[in-house]
Amino acid sequence: MSSIAVVGTGYVGLTTAACLADLGHSVVALDIDESKIAVLNQGKPTIYEPGLDDVMSRGLAAGRLHFTTQYRDAIPEAEFVFVAVGTPMGRRGEADLVFIKQAAKSIAGAMKKTLTIVNKSTVPIGTGNIVARIVGENLEHEIPFSVVSNPEFLREGSAIQDFMHPDRLVFGSHDEAAAHAVAGLYSKLDTRILITDLHTAEMIKYASNAFLATRISFINEIARICERVDADVKVVAEGMGLDRRIGPMFLDAGIGYGGSCFPKDVKALARMAETLGYHPELLDAVMEINVDQRTLFVEKLREVLGGLRDQVIAVLGLAYKPNTDDVREAPSIDVINSLQQKGAKVRAYDPKAMPVLKKIMNGIDYCADPYKAAEGADALLLVTEWEEFRTLELDRLKRIMRRPVVVDGRNLYDPKQMRELGFVYRGVGRS
Ligand code: NAD
Repeated sequence: MSSIAVVGTGYVGLTTAACLADLGHSVVALDIDESKIAVLNQGKPTIYEPGLDDVMSRGLAAGRLHFTTQYRDAIPEAEFVFVAVGTPMGRRGEADLVFIKQAAKSIAGAMKKTLTIVNKSTVPIGTGNIVARIVGENLEHEIPFSVVSNPEFLREGSAIQDFMHPDRLVFGSHDEAAAHAVAGLYSKLDTRILITDLHTAEMIKYASNAFLATRISFINEIARICERVDADVKVVAEGMGLDRRIGPMFLDAGIGYGGSCFPKDVKALARMAETLGYHPELLDAVMEINVDQRTLFVEKLREVLGGLRDQVIAVLGLAYKPNTDDVREAPSIDVINSLQQKGAKVRAYDPKAMPVLKKIMNGIDYCADPYKAAEGADALLLVTEWEEFRTLELDRLKRIMRRPVVVDGRNLYDPKQMRELGFVYRGVGRS
């Protein structure tokens, strides 16, 4: 079993630290955010992620998982350090590497012995070389080290499951032995291992996210055409997905992709291509369709209601997807902003994300449950497909709303049933 440090305790870092400890390694997880570490040191997760509290508790009880704010507590004894800091979107759409560079510098400052630096953050191609340069420049005396890219593919909402049962693991490095050593840390997992060079590993992550985003924008474009030819995109997607060459995943037409990864990663890849003299036509179209999808959603509502001024709109779902409290780049934010700009009064309900959104958005009437949000409302917008919204008592909703208008951004409900119940119902791509 190995001695591991994890830098950054966000969604990726905390999951990685807790799961590596569960695999039997000794893990110290580090964050510069003192408030996060204070909560983690009480044994409480700082994010909502199914199963995380159990995995964390096991690690803490076994004495294999520790948290700190100090590089000098985490790095000197470590054989491997995983870097899982944020790589947010910079001002021109590029990935901002400020946290990666700071982490590299701090790791170098605390290193006492040979170390393998494993990058989990999603980074532009070549970042591993930048990390190596910064570490080399900041070491007090010569210590051997390697840099390995081990991109993360977990999905928020099923992060623990994804970590423990990955489709594949990718390790890329100029130092093949180091890549194999990092792969060895996961030897208990039954999965495909791909060892590559550094640049290829970094590119696999961007290409994967860009491809999934492309599927979503593709089906949303098909949905727009479906609305014009009187076809049902949900059934179209089902028919496409049964083809093994296509498969069913990421073919749900709706309000578009959001979250902390797809928007920034597609943009960063496009931006990187442009700085290298290549114009990424397809990626640009993917992003444009995605932005328009949110606008079209509000437009659909405006058309049904004949205007939005002073209308009371119930928004169900704020997280960018179900089973997470993450609202980064969530469609709900653009939709609510647009509703408010047009003079609508917004009520909202989300099972997990309300405390997070409350910190960044004002002027919303946050409600205790979906029915409180819907009571007296002129329309209900379904923005996130939480499981509990599938089983709402629709006839009760119909009774308590002022006008029975439902605009369903996730095609959660059956149009025929909704019409039979007396709703004015609009889905996406289901004319
Ligand atoms: P996050 O913002 O939730 O967490 C990042 C953490 O790093 C924060 O707690 C922050 O305080 C900490 N940090 C910043 N600078 C630091 C430093 N110098 N030293 C120590 N800690 C520092 O981010 P996240 O969602 O976990 O994403 C991390 C990376 O993983 C990003 O590159 C992201 O693109 C990628 N990724 C994310 C997901 C996901 O679903 N969230 C999935 C795959 C890959």
